[in-house]
Amino acid sequence: MSIIPPLQAADTRPVLFDSHCHLDLPELLPQLELHLANAKAVGVEGFLVPAVQSSAWLPLLALKRHYGFYIALGVHPWWASQLQFDALQGLEALAALPEVNAIGEIGLDFALDEQSFALQRQCFELQLQLAAKLKKPVVLHHRKSQNELLQVIKQQQFRQGGILHAFSGSFAQGKAFIDMGFKLGIGGTITYERAEKTRKAVKQFPLDALVLETDSPSMPLNGFQGQINTPAQLPLVLKALAELRGENQQKIAQVLFNTTIQLFPT
Ligand SMILES: [Zn+2]
Repeated sequence: MSIIPPLQAADTRPVLFDSHCHLDLPELLPQLELHLANAKAVGVEGFLVPAVQSSAWLPLLALKRHYGFYIALGVHPWWASQLQFDALQGLEALAALPEVNAIGEIGLDFALDEQSFALQRQCFELQLQLAAKLKKPVVLHHRKSQNELLQVIKQQQFRQGGILHAFSGSFAQGKAFIDMGFKLGIGGTITYERAEKTRKAVKQFPLDALVLETDSPSMPLNGFQGQINTPAQLPLVLKALAELRGENQQKIAQVLFNTTIQLFPT
């Protein structure tokens, strides 16, 4: 199922795409219908749900077939040890299906124990190669690892692009990913005044290099700390982005919605 870009007249509510929400996780799945209804009530019409581990792949395909979500299949760096030979074969078979929009959530997390770095790197490299082979974009996780991610992307001459999810950092850091064909996932981080560097950077990026995300159920927005995050919060991210950039919410929403669906051909 594909999502048709909505017509957005100037006087209608912005239509939004949550490019990173874990609707399949136990914090959200039991009340999925409610979360979708709440999100749709505030204009969130598109959802990209990335897998974090191999046990999520088949359930995500089923969710996609039922709800029309965009999905990414892959192994998150926190579960890097899962990507043994069998799992990689399984991932290749499933990710080749046309319903699978991207490979993800993959990447490197250098806030974890240093002993895991070599395995994480191997897990990331294999999945990036797979994405290149299948000609699919990737959804990237990073923590203290942007330079290393870029290094691997350049070494492999990866050209399919994708999203650097939960962007935080300077203009130069973001620009380096944009130059490699990536979009930057803008989420709740920009609602925190202490995220000065990131807030300054998002004012400067070209609008068509950005997409919106909540990272539900993680990354609650400023003022909602300690609560489970949901896609219905996405309009608040849009509002914060519009205020920072001094631009119209409607215009931002339309560009970012179109950018998201163009990134993931269906
Ligand atoms: Zn995630």
